[in-house]
Amino acid sequence: MSLKGRTALVTGSTSGIGLGIAKALAAQGANIMLNGFGDGETIAKVRREVETLGVKTGYSAADMSKPADVEALVAATVKEFGAVDILVNNAGIQHVANVDEFPLDAWDRVIQINLTSCFQSMRAALPHMKKRGWGRIINIASAHGIVASAGKSAYVAAKHGLVGLTKVVALETATLPITANTICPGWVLTPLVQKQIDALAERKGISGAAAKDELLSEKQPSKEFATPEQIGGLAAFLCSPAADQIRGSNFSIDGGWTAQ
Ligand code: NAD
Repeated sequence: MSLKGRTALVTGSTSGIGLGIAKALAAQGANIMLNGFGDGETIAKVRREVETLGVKTGYSAADMSKPADVEALVAATVKEFGAVDILVNNAGIQHVANVDEFPLDAWDRVIQINLTSCFQSMRAALPHMKKRGWGRIINIASAHGIVASAGKSAYVAAKHGLVGLTKVVALETATLPITANTICPGWVLTPLVQKQIDALAERKGISGAAAKDELLSEKQPSKEFATPEQIGGLAAFLCSPAADQIRGSNFSIDGGWTAQ
């Protein structure tokens, strides 16, 4: 339980990758501030699942599309737990359309949630990490933080931006016991990706299983999804003493996607 006594704020942790990371950090003893959307029953279930690992949880419905909510989320974490030792910026959305048809409000929303909110949460959390003399920042980018795909301009711009932003923070904290790194997942079967599978199946008139195969075959040489547990395992490692000098790096968990 190497993270006993630490507090982790994980944005977008009511489902998918964020929940996988929350559980992995809780398994190491960190108390978890959960965040994300969901009805009362879903949130209560998620909290129970994480608390079963022997830690305390808090929950905030802060909306990462609203700048004031991002700052309030960091403040609420400090108020409830006295610290934000680990910050995982995970909340993210997708919008698919070619540039000449991409609505400006969709662009703004993707950039705010996937990039600007990460800047805001780091800006708000860093003074607390400096005061406590320890911190870990883990930003969840994507294979799309390294390479591009047609139709995903805002997402690719935000994720490339997040990889660069993380390097800047790592340099600004280089002499401190605070590290900042990015994880770049390939396809992980979560609600975010299920929507894209459903859209592909409908567009091509094929079954869900065939759409899944096609999605993986196009990009991910292993032809297997990465899992939230695997992303969580890497996040926990990045919070361990073995990772003290890992600074400004980005880690692909993408079945070979970006090796091509
Ligand atoms: P998901 O849709 O399963 O979960 C997203 C989480 O973010 C949910 O808890 C949701 O409630 C929350 N969320 C969405 N909008 C929010 C907002 N405005 N404010 C607060 N919370 C909000 O998605 P996921 O696939 O688990 O994705 C998590 C992260 O991983 C995202 O940043 C995504 O870009 C990235 N990612 C996912 C994949 C993949 O294949 N699933 C691949 C690469 C990167």
